[in-house]
This record gives sequence, structure tokens and C-alpha cells, in this order.
Amino acid sequence: MMANNNSSCFITAPGFCPDCGSVLPLLDERGGVTCYTCKREWDSEVFGDMKMIHTILFNTKHTYASAKEVEDSDDDADGPVVERQCPQCQNDKMSYATLQLRSADEGQTVFYTCTKCKFKETENS
Ligand SMILES: [Zn+2]
Ligand SMILES: [Zn+2]
Repeated sequence: MMANNNSSCFITAPGFCPDCGSVLPLLDERGGVTCYTCKREWDSEVFGDMKMIHTILFNTKHTYASAKEVEDSDDDADGPVVERQCPQCQNDKMSYATLQLRSADEGQTVFYTCTKCKFKETENS
């Protein structure tokens, strides 16, 4: 069950350490997070309303693992597909997923994945 997901975490989730106020890093596999500054450990509740981030992280890892298994297949898009040019292979279709961060000011983050080479790109709107 231990997938190699070293490179699959590209989502940034704004969260702040209740103890020292530093920006927290991402949730780890345990669903917890350790503050870089004061080294305190918190569970996912520190993110308050944003529990959906945990769900999306999980789904992303799952999708990523599936994509690795079917690397040779072209039709395993993991979301709605839009016409968007891939900066890496110039393919003109990318699938996308959106993440609304309710307690952040910057609105929506859109994650694009090239349907051909799996290049991933994020865009804030
Ligand atoms: Zn802290
Ligand atoms: Zn591509």
C-alpha cells in the first residue's frame, strides 16, 4: 500500500500554525502536519473547514497511482477535458479539477493535467 508519491504533492493548502502563526506545510500521509517553525504536530483539524483538501489530496494520489499503472494508455483522463495547450508536448487537451479554498482570499485553484503526457499545471483564478 506504500505508493511512491514523492513527486505527486503539488497542491498548496494555506494553513497557519495556531501556536506560532507560521504557514503550515501540507498534510502528510497520516493526515497530520508538523509546523516547520515550532515543530509542533497538528492533525487535519488545524485546517478547519478545509477538510476537503484532505479528500482531494487522497484522490489525486490515487489517480496518480492509476495513471502510472496504465502509462501506455491515452484515454485515462481523470476529469473533464478542456481545450488547452500542454506546454510540454503541445497536445491541445488537458483534463482539469478545481479546488475552492473557502477560507482563502484567492478564490479557486484549477489543476490541469495533460491527457497525453500527464504534465501537471496549476492556475489560480
Ligand atoms: Zn508553529
Ligand atoms: Zn502534454
